[in-house]
Formats: sequence, C-alpha cells, structure tokens
Amino acid sequence: MWNSPRAQGWWILAWLAVSLPGVVWIGHNALEQLREAFETDARIVHRLLSQRAVQHDAILSMLALLQSSSDATRPEQRLPSVYPQILAVKRRDGGQAWDEPRFAAAERQSRQARRPVLAAADFAKARYWLVLAADTGYALQIDMRGLAPWSEWPMRPETSSVRVMLEYAGQRLVLQPGSIGSTGWRFDFAKHLATDSQPFDVVAVSQVGWSQLPWGWMLAWVALVAVLLAGVQGAHRQREARRRAEALLRLGKVARLNALGELAAGMAHEVNQPLAAVLANTQAAKRLLADTPPDIETAQSAMASAVQQAQRAAEVVGRLRRAVDAPEGATEIAAVDLHTALSRALYLLAPQLQACGVTPALQAAGAVNVLADPVALEQVIHNLLLNAMQALERVPRGERTLTLSLNAAAAQGALIVHDSGPGIAADVLPRLFDPFFTTRDGGLGLGLSLCETLATRMNGTLTAANHATRGAVFTLRLPLAEAVGTP
Ligand code: ADP
Repeated sequence: MWNSPRAQGWWILAWLAVSLPGVVWIGHNALEQLREAFETDARIVHRLLSQRAVQHDAILSMLALLQSSSDATRPEQRLPSVYPQILAVKRRDGGQAWDEPRFAAAERQSRQARRPVLAAADFAKARYWLVLAADTGYALQIDMRGLAPWSEWPMRPETSSVRVMLEYAGQRLVLQPGSIGSTGWRFDFAKHLATDSQPFDVVAVSQVGWSQLPWGWMLAWVALVAVLLAGVQGAHRQREARRRAEALLRLGKVARLNALGELAAGMAHEVNQPLAAVLANTQAAKRLLADTPPDIETAQSAMASAVQQAQRAAEVVGRLRRAVDAPEGATEIAAVDLHTALSRALYLLAPQLQACGVTPALQAAGAVNVLADPVALEQVIHNLLLNAMQALERVPRGERTLTLSLNAAAAQGALIVHDSGPGIAADVLPRLFDPFFTTRDGGLGLGLSLCETLATRMNGTLTAANHATRGAVFTLRLPLAEAVGTP
C-alpha cells in the first residue's frame, strides 16, 4: 500500500514523542538530585567554616575578659597548641602601642564596632590577623587552611568534583580543588561566613558533565517505549488483518449475490440459443420422418445437432449450479466519494498488490462524489483491480505499473484503471463484457459482465480500451452527486 511507509513514519514519531519527554524528565530529575546534594554539601561546608570563624571571635572575647595586663605568664601564647588553626597571638598591654600601624588602625575600628576586626588578610599565604580592642588588645593570626574541619567535612576532599573557595576583596583561596569541566551544567553557591569579623565569602562550584547523566536509565526507557509500541503495533496489525479478512468475506458474499443475478441473465442468454436450436432441429427431424419416404439420414443429423445443443444448455446449467448459492441483494444509491471507495478496495487488496510487486500511482485532484450503491461500487472497483493484477502477472515484475485516475467532468465522475499488462486482443475486445467470456484458465467470465450490469444499474457506464502506449484502460463513469459547474 502506498501509505505504509507513512504509517511507519507515524510510529517512529510516536516513539520519539513518548520517549523524548521521558528522557528529558529522567535527565532533569537526575540533575535536580545532584543539585540538591551539592547545595546540602555547600550549606554544611558554610556552617562548619562559620563555626570555626565564630570560635575566633569567642576566643578573643574570652582573652579580653580574663586576661589582665599584669599577668606576666602570658597564657594566651599557649592557644596555638590548643587550636591548630591559630598560628600566633599578639598582645598590646595597656598604655603600650602596637608594633605595626595596621594593628593600631584595626583596634580603632574594633573599638567603634565593638567586635573583632580583620587587620590583614594575606590570601597568598593563606593567613589573616584578627584584632579585638580592650584595655589589653589582642590579635590572633589564623591559618585559613585550618578553618576547614576535615574530619567533619561532607565530601572527600581528594576525590570530590566540587571546588570550595574563600573569597574576599578580589582575593581567592582554594580549600578543595574539585574538578571543573567545560561542558555540562554548573552549580554555584556563595554565602558570607556567619560572622562580621571575618567577612569572607564561602564559594562552592560544581560542574556536572554529560557523562554523569543516567544514560542507562534513559536508554532503558527508550527501549521500553519501543517494546511497548511494538506490542501496540503488533496488536494494531492483527486488528487490521482481521478487519481486512472480514471485509473480503463480506465482499465475497455480495459478489456471489450479484453474480447470481448476472448468472441468471447470462443463463437466459446462453440457454435460450441452444434451446431454440434444439426446437428447430427436432421440429425439422419430425417433419423429415413424416415425409414419404422418410429422410432418415437428414433427420439423424438434425437430431445429432439437437443433442449437441442440449448438451451445451446442460453445461451452462451445470456452471450455474456450481456458481450460485445465494439470492440477489438490493441496490441502494447514495452519494459516495470515489476516492474513499478506491482507498477501501486498495486497502483490501494491499497484501496481493504487495505480493504482485505493484505500487498503485494515484492521480486525483480531490474528492469526486458520485451517486452509487457503495457496496456495488466497491465490488466493481475490486473486480477491475483484480483483473488489472491478473493482467500484470503476465508481464515481468519490473514492467508492472498500475495508474488510478479520478476526475470529474460535466455531470459524471470517472475512475480510470490503467495497467501496463499485455492489453486486450482485438478479437477479444468486442466480447469482453459478454457473460461467460473468459480467456483465463479457470476463469468464470462473469466479472466484467457483472461490473457492466452494476454500472448500468447505477446509471453509469463501464468501458474498456487499449492504452495508446501499453496495457488496458478500464473507465468507470458514474453520475456526479452534484454536477460540476452548478453552484
Ligand atoms: P474472468 O476474470 O473470469 O476471465 P472477466 O469478465 O473479469 O472474467 O474478464 C473477462 C476477460 O477479459 C478476461 O478473461 C481477460 O481476457 C479480459 N480482461 C479483463 N481485464 C483485463 C485487463 N486488465 N487486461 C487484459 N485483459 C483483460
């Protein structure tokens, strides 16, 4: 059938339409999970670093509270042994001045702000000084790398892909290097440490590469959709085949019904001739035998001829017996689109056409609505297509073409069936529509005569001709439902 590659295309589209959103959803979900994990880790890192920073504020406040300027043992110098991130402690006793002006400036600020203040931050060396103003001023030198409590760290610093940094006034210190690729999705986190005395930003960055997407799940989903659609397609095909078989069966029944009428007409025609001959011959024989002397020889030959004609009649009756088993159906005229009727017939014959290696070419401008008995019309088209296929089977596969044209002119719609078969012999052409005329072995010779009768019954015509270049052309004309040209 001409539309089967298109149907295949629709199935592929359906497969893409169902599987792609699923793939996007799986990928999006995975990214969301990775983002959530990243943000949780980044928040924990921020909290841990903030806790350490706040600790320094507390230590300075404790020193200011507890230490007196007269304490000469300088116990604050023992702090680095307790807190490894504290590298050094400086102290300015009351009445003395700081050895460096930046500490004096920081202490002034601290006095105003009433909290510890950053005196100097050297990110290159990863250290900074923190100063608190009091009667006895104190300054702590902090190792920035010691800010990170690695034992409580939520990631494995050597292998984690997340980069963690501290940033302040254009300076940057990398605490955990991570691995940042150039493609994929980037997650960012930035937040101030939770103390004003050490106004650093905790910055975390992570880059999720394409390789980290759950490809296994995505492929499994795509495959699952393909399997499900294949199942649906299989069921659909089965249903199609069943429908086609049922329609063929119905058409076969109708064909037999119509054939009966045709057979009766053909019979009358075929049996009438031999009967008339039998009558004439037997009357002649009777007359010859009544003569004196009786002409026995001529009477015998007349009787032999009568026997022959009677046998011919018996043969026709025998054919009738074999072919008939149902009564004739009724004709119901309605508006029918020739295109639709043709499509149905083609649908029913699709497997045979395919086996015959024929792809019909359709030439139609649009719908052609004719007045016809839908069932009879289908039967005529079915017969014409069957005949065309039988003709095409007599030529090599590569030369088989079947062109179906639809057109409407004046008050008639036409279907033209042109095959590239051997065409119709000149002596066959005049008898083509005669009942029981066939050139095929096993042919009944009723198909075309029935088609012609059905066409006439629907106020149409069926004609046959040879094509100018090759093959036979059968033209079915039927009255248009609305005559062309009338509004
Ligand atoms: P059957 O098919 O039983 O022979 P038909 O009435 O359908 O009876 O056909 C009668 C004859 O018309 C066929 O035997 C064949 O010789 C001829 N015929 C029908 N269609 C074609 C065609 N498309 N090309 C050539 N000959 C055809």
